[in-house]
Amino acid sequence: MKFKLFCLGLGLMVLFGGCSSASSNSPEEYSQTIFAMDTAMTLTAYGEGCEAAVNAAISEINRLDALFSVNNENSDIYRLNNEKSAQVSDDTYSLLGSAIDFYEKTYGALDVAVYPAVKAWGFTTGEHRVPSDSELSELKTHIGAENIILGENNTVTLTDSLAEVDLGSVAKGYASDLVCNVMKNTGITSGIVSLGGNVETIGVKTDGSLWKIGVTDPSDESSLIGTLSLENKAVITSGSYQRYFDLDGVRYHHIIDPETCAPARSGLTSVTIVSDSGLTADAYSTAVFVMGLEKGSDFWRSSSDSFDIVFITDEGEVYITEGLKNAFVPRDDIEPVIIER
Ligand code: AMP
Ligand code: MG
Repeated sequence: MKFKLFCLGLGLMVLFGGCSSASSNSPEEYSQTIFAMDTAMTLTAYGEGCEAAVNAAISEINRLDALFSVNNENSDIYRLNNEKSAQVSDDTYSLLGSAIDFYEKTYGALDVAVYPAVKAWGFTTGEHRVPSDSELSELKTHIGAENIILGENNTVTLTDSLAEVDLGSVAKGYASDLVCNVMKNTGITSGIVSLGGNVETIGVKTDGSLWKIGVTDPSDESSLIGTLSLENKAVITSGSYQRYFDLDGVRYHHIIDPETCAPARSGLTSVTIVSDSGLTADAYSTAVFVMGLEKGSDFWRSSSDSFDIVFITDEGEVYITEGLKNAFVPRDDIEPVIIER
């Protein structure tokens, strides 16, 4: 039995054009890399007050991590999962409310209550296994965000005794929105945060040019399939190469199709969403990954939310929605197919 775990891929890379993103501490630029929410995060701010802005942003991330963690016994989510009813902070209440909206808008593809299935595959402990079909059918009866009831005074209740939630699919996007606001409130007009490869930008670069964000090639993570030139946007990737295990020659990744309670086999290896909102980008990157190219394109066409998508298929084909026509510069050997409304 061959058993292998890789969990390195982060999906996006910020291209700084010569200068390093890590800990360059000139007065006009301040950057810190920390470990939070189970991943490496780099926060960079430019201009007067950049150090204070990054420090305030780090405090904000640590505050949110302490609320959302599934493992920290004092977190809102840990208490909710264990007691099935808990009074939670405003942030947790609000994020759970958004997650329920996304569940409805994505027809169940984004389901923060899919956690019992994530656990069954061993993604939470690293003790990976392949559950039997009957175990998966049984699990299916206990998942679904309809089991999350938001009550008065920030009280949240889980109506199924085996229901559990995990905000892993939306927390980094939610955090990046808040962190960018914290930095903007300190007066920063140029900055970039990368929370485990989920990128959100403030303004443009100090020389007035656009941020360049590279999209990782899932078949060779040291290479990019292209770059996105953007300002004031969140860019978030969900990919099957980001967290997975191989067992007996089969790859099992961490994005679960709530229909089957198994890793989504949608024909995609990576979905990148570009949006004004980190939260929307994070929710939809996971959901569109589950939907696949065709359903994901239809979802994009019919959605009232404003966002764009870079799809990479199992065969390495690249599809982009039309809003990225000018922003996306593909690698020389790649010709993206443009998806129109
Ligand atoms: P992301 O990297 O944002 O796509 O989120 C993936 C993480 O969210 C996984 O590691 C799981 O913890 C959790 N997850 C997996 N599948 C789903 C799903 N269909 N809906 C919501 N959360 C999920
Ligand atoms: Mg996500």
